[in-house]
Amino acid sequence: MIGIIGGGIIGIATAYELAKLGEEVIVFEKRYFGSGSTFRCASGIRAQFTDEANIRLMKYSIDKWKKLSEELEYEVMFQQTGYLFLATSEEEVKAFKRNIKLQNKFGVPTKLITPEEAKEIVPPLNADAFLAGAWNPEDGKASPFHTLYGYKRAGEKLGVRFYPYTEVIGIKKNDKWIIKTTRGEFRVDVIVNATNAWGRRINSMIGKDIVPIKPFKHQLVKTEPIERGQIEPLVCPPAWSDSYVIQDGEDGGVICGTALEYKGNPDDVTPTYDFVKEALKWAVKIVPALKHVHIIRQWAGYYAKTPDNNPAIGELEEDFYVAIGFSGHGFMMAPAVSQALAEKIVKGKTKVPLDWEWFDPYRFERGELRSSAFQIG
Ligand code: FAD
Repeated sequence: MIGIIGGGIIGIATAYELAKLGEEVIVFEKRYFGSGSTFRCASGIRAQFTDEANIRLMKYSIDKWKKLSEELEYEVMFQQTGYLFLATSEEEVKAFKRNIKLQNKFGVPTKLITPEEAKEIVPPLNADAFLAGAWNPEDGKASPFHTLYGYKRAGEKLGVRFYPYTEVIGIKKNDKWIIKTTRGEFRVDVIVNATNAWGRRINSMIGKDIVPIKPFKHQLVKTEPIERGQIEPLVCPPAWSDSYVIQDGEDGGVICGTALEYKGNPDDVTPTYDFVKEALKWAVKIVPALKHVHIIRQWAGYYAKTPDNNPAIGELEEDFYVAIGFSGHGFMMAPAVSQALAEKIVKGKTKVPLDWEWFDPYRFERGELRSSAFQIG
């Protein structure tokens, strides 16, 4: 029996992958499934990273995303609408060229495009403000809600037991692990800590608080729907405070994000008004016509940040695994990471190109930071 702590996309997808391999699985979630970062994310999926480990992992993940609706027999609304990063200086253009070269080396077809070409992709773009774009048409987006429900339903069909409103409050080890919850005790052979921003609390329960995750409140605002096809890719000029806009794949509203963040307690998801002003200041610079569109909602969630913005994935202690600290990219990585983790637990190895050394939870203790993963969605 394998016990998964945390019912976000990572925990639920891993439960499904483990059940596919014939394991008995039980998932504990302290609130409702998706209530952590997952249902608060911006839906973005990209292979445009700046290091080999993340590029290769995300290339594999995108290949899985393409077939996910079919595999889960549930429409997850994955669409390859691309990511468009925009440069505002010559130095950035140079950096884009370096990144593109690396991405191309691993089969990601990103290319440098002109502002005019960018405007063809995003018609209302303030193209004059930019020198060039890094464009990968294979990046995309999917519905966090449909994806989580799809994995959960597929897991249920394979016998996974899901316990919502069941908080893990302690862990002991005898001959087996004993997980103490608000619904009583459960004996399991293997534990997976998939609690992301809450990851340290669970690691502390076994005396291994070695992954220094800091939770940062991140927020989004969303507009009323606009005509489809206007801002389909995620559009981001990183120099403008990592701000971005993207049309929601489901209803066509525009989701707007920016890097204004607050270190805090991940149970506090109260949105703040200063975020609305900051996000919209940048959104209307990227797409000026947005000043005519109303905001209809705002929400907050958490980036679970490690010192290098890369997650910690691996075995913390015998039969105790972690997949936590996903910063701004846990949703997109879930298909690849869940398969890799499940195969590692059951078979001891995986065909997923996940670089275990890169994501090693012990790297912080050794003082070995990776190059920082670009953190936005
Ligand atoms: P979570 O979804 O946080 O799940 C962890 C779960 O553990 C929670 O539901 C929590 O309630 C539960 N839990 C905690 N403690 C306990 C306990 N003691 N007992 C039982 N359960 C417990 N990622 C992308 O890939 N693309 C994006 O575009 C993107 N945009 C984002 C925008 C915003 C504003 C935010 C906040 C995040 C964004 N992210 C994005 C990041 C993404 O949402 C996360 O990386 C991802 O959802 C992490 O999933 P998870 O399953 O690891 O964690």
